[in-house]
Amino acid sequence: MPQLMIAGKAVPPSKILCVARNYVDHAKEMGTAVPEEPIFFLKPTTSLLPGGGTILLPRESKRVEVETELAAILGAGGRDVAAGEAMRLVAGYAVFFDITARDLQTKARKDGSPWTASKGFDTFAPISEGVSANRVREPHGLSIRLRVNDAVRQDSNTGQMVFRIPQLIEAASRIMTLESGDVIATGTPAGVWPITPGDVLDADIAEVGRLRCTVAARNR
Ligand code: MG
Repeated sequence: MPQLMIAGKAVPPSKILCVARNYVDHAKEMGTAVPEEPIFFLKPTTSLLPGGGTILLPRESKRVEVETELAAILGAGGRDVAAGEAMRLVAGYAVFFDITARDLQTKARKDGSPWTASKGFDTFAPISEGVSANRVREPHGLSIRLRVNDAVRQDSNTGQMVFRIPQLIEAASRIMTLESGDVIATGTPAGVWPITPGDVLDADIAEVGRLRCTVAARNR
């Protein structure tokens, strides 16, 4: 299983907690309302892929999309963490792709089924090496951008988040115990883009870093 890295130090991954519709413009492009409280879902740690890796498109899906997200990596855990205390848990930040089999997700939505398949395939959670939290002055004011084959597809700012990291940690820690090695993916801005074999994805978040991946069909 790939390790998480923060400033050259390995952090064993614990869980990957993602947030649905946490940017107003993305909720709009999905034709859904902005939620009144954070909606969480999990990805398995087996879906992690280090930067530079190859995202494998499963045969089960005809449409896989990339979502670029700021991830907070926790260095400490807790339960019922107040928003005012929450940032103490964050050890670092990384660039994250929430890879999504959109057709499977749309079907799950329609059927009222979980998103596990659409979000959980191997290689569906690429993550860059993290930077230490103390190197990022304000995580809610960073430009976030995705290029697919050199064309800009996402271009926004983490200041557009609906629920910010302290609120996400507070809300999540009421549901489940948070632990060191947890990754909290904070949601994607508009411009999610379908990916196909041969594509080169290149995302950057100011002060945090860069995540590059290639795309291939999974042959089995
Ligand atoms: Mg997402």
